[in-house]
Amino acid sequence: MSCADESNDYWNYNDPSKWHEHFPSAGGFSQSPINIKSNETVPQVYPAFSFSPNYTHQLLFTLTNNGHQVAVTQAAKSTSSQNQPDLWFTGGGLHGKFHFVNFHLHWGKNDRHGSEHEIDGYRFPAEAHFVHKNLETKETAVFAFFFDIASKHHHENVEWKKYADAASQLKNTGDTVDCTFHLSNLMQIEDRQYFRYTGSLTTPPCAEGVIWTIFFTVIPIAEKSLNELRQNVMRKVYRPVQPVNGRVIYRNYGH
Ligand SMILES: [Zn+2]
Repeated sequence: MSCADESNDYWNYNDPSKWHEHFPSAGGFSQSPINIKSNETVPQVYPAFSFSPNYTHQLLFTLTNNGHQVAVTQAAKSTSSQNQPDLWFTGGGLHGKFHFVNFHLHWGKNDRHGSEHEIDGYRFPAEAHFVHKNLETKETAVFAFFFDIASKHHHENVEWKKYADAASQLKNTGDTVDCTFHLSNLMQIEDRQYFRYTGSLTTPPCAEGVIWTIFFTVIPIAEKSLNELRQNVMRKVYRPVQPVNGRVIYRNYGH
């Protein structure tokens, strides 16, 4: 078991209810994650997303055990003359250009827990987040995808197996490893059905004003991959659901 939970930056996943003591935003009224009651969502029409071409290319990324999760960022430039490939999207009812910041996975100590958001009270075994930022407005937008356990008829997503295998090597805080990924294969961006609401980061400081897009696609991941992460990295990596406090949750279907 990892000692990563003992980091000295005042928070861990054993005690999310105390995060607000050091991070006041975590006690706010528009926090994430939430339980989405699908029959209370409001239909809304959004323009299509448009992704930069590099989402479909194989690119080099760096995975880092930051003591709380294994976050994946674009690998640092090898020389100053080479720029990092552009990764950004527009559309989807958001204003301006949102640049890729990182992606990471949340999981639980067994298959009955792990996702941060819940749909009609249902928890998935894992949830992926793709964090993007508008560099002009400083707005943050996160794409979320749920997972289920792969089976004979629903094979494990190969790109997510790569993530689990690479992340499982990072047993200590600060460990890093490089790996190539196709973001479009990890994100299943062809999926167009989603929920939309405004909430917060789900890790301290839990700043609010984050625009969430929660896709319906359920991505298959092998139990073995989740077990590797549980055993080698951290047992659980998710914040429990927070009060909705009257927020409107939109959906882009059924209108
Ligand atoms: Zn997250």
